[in-house]
Amino acid sequence: MNFADSEVVASILKKDGYELTDMAKDANLVLLNTCSIRDKAEQTVRNKLKNFNSQKKENKDLKVGLLGCMAERLKEKLLDEEKIVDLVVGPDSYKDLPNLLDEVEHNQRAVNVILSKSETYGDISPVRIHNNGINAFVSITRGCDNMCTFCVVPFTRGRERSRNPDSILREINELNEKGYKEITLLGQNVDSYLWYGGGPKKDFKKASEYQKLNAKKFSDLLELVASNFPEIRIRFSTSNPQDMTTDVIETMAKYENICNYIHLPIQSGSDRILKKMNRLHTRQEYLELIKKIREIIPNCGISHDMITGFPTETERDHQDTLSLMEEVEYDFGYMFAYSERPGTYAARHFKDNISPELKQRRLEEIITLQQKHSFERNKRFINSKCSVLIDKSSKKSDDHWSGRTSENNVVVFPKYDLSLGDIVDVKINECTTATLIGDIYKIKV
Ligand code: SAH
Repeated sequence: MNFADSEVVASILKKDGYELTDMAKDANLVLLNTCSIRDKAEQTVRNKLKNFNSQKKENKDLKVGLLGCMAERLKEKLLDEEKIVDLVVGPDSYKDLPNLLDEVEHNQRAVNVILSKSETYGDISPVRIHNNGINAFVSITRGCDNMCTFCVVPFTRGRERSRNPDSILREINELNEKGYKEITLLGQNVDSYLWYGGGPKKDFKKASEYQKLNAKKFSDLLELVASNFPEIRIRFSTSNPQDMTTDVIETMAKYENICNYIHLPIQSGSDRILKKMNRLHTRQEYLELIKKIREIIPNCGISHDMITGFPTETERDHQDTLSLMEEVEYDFGYMFAYSERPGTYAARHFKDNISPELKQRRLEEIITLQQKHSFERNKRFINSKCSVLIDKSSKKSDDHWSGRTSENNVVVFPKYDLSLGDIVDVKINECTTATLIGDIYKIKV
């Protein structure tokens, strides 16, 4: 999301006469787009800021700005805490950047952290940064209304709102014309997408009958994108189990260009913890959803997010998480130790009572189990043929391409005279936990 937002910022500033540079030390303006999801993300930003102290001594014109969730969370306080910062701008205020930069030019420090009730950037064509010309992100919703008790996002990104489908299609059309091959539709909770003419999702009940009849939900948007751009591969992230409906899975099955991959965070396998997290579904409901996905799309790649050490998590809760992982056997997973975020419901009501050592031990256990599952899931592909979109050079060898299957598996194979953006059939010969290794079967495009 921040990656996509930085592209919006680059577009706004380009219009204002700014140019991008790869060398931070040459810059007169440095903007850090920040994340608040865990304390570590914020500490990383604070450490990065130190790098600019000496640069600022050498270049008196250098301005430093903090954008994104940390700006929204800490507001003016950031100016006191980080003397090097001239500018603090929240996720919905980037259009104000030219004005704020004017203020900063006049030796003032500037802050704008006002959150919006509409999709703020629908009319902006993002400037793609460090892009391979193959994959691009397209924002479809902003904010989140779910109020998971551990999560800072509703406080830093505001209420949930959806982007006009016309402007989404317009952006994808531009990407298509430029030769992009794959887009990822982005939102904190894409299944909750609802376009009824603008405004926060929570106000939908106040909409007119006409608006309600013509409203578009996520499956409608998916269908629109997939049918309008049959040559483009479509992904989306993130799905929230409580909002994912069968029509989304059916639409995925109906269109070959929608990738067979669903990132479906659950956070814990314990019903008691799910309830305390305000995740509005049970373990059983989640397992039924997984079953339905596999019935409709048998080989669908599925991944999860998991948090260990949420307040009061017992050994038994942790075992529930491990057994859920055994039951699902995910392809991939993103796993984290609980980090208390100031202002969230959990921070206000539950004591962060699991020691760092215990969180870490449980984290290591789930990571080990996930690696085992990823390896097992990858082994299924050995001796089979996969359709792969080439998106970069392999990190380990200049003679090999790296690409992804529809199910989101990374595949590495010899380059021959193939190019970035080609879709090729690869025969898989071996695998590691993270990678399928193969050779060309035949060239498709
Ligand atoms: N809206 C997305 C979440 C984005 S944050 C969704 O619901 O899937 C990505 C992941 O960070 C979350 O799924 C969760 O696993 C993790 N996370 C969020 N808050 C956290 C916290 N306070 N401590 C540890 N991990 C957290």
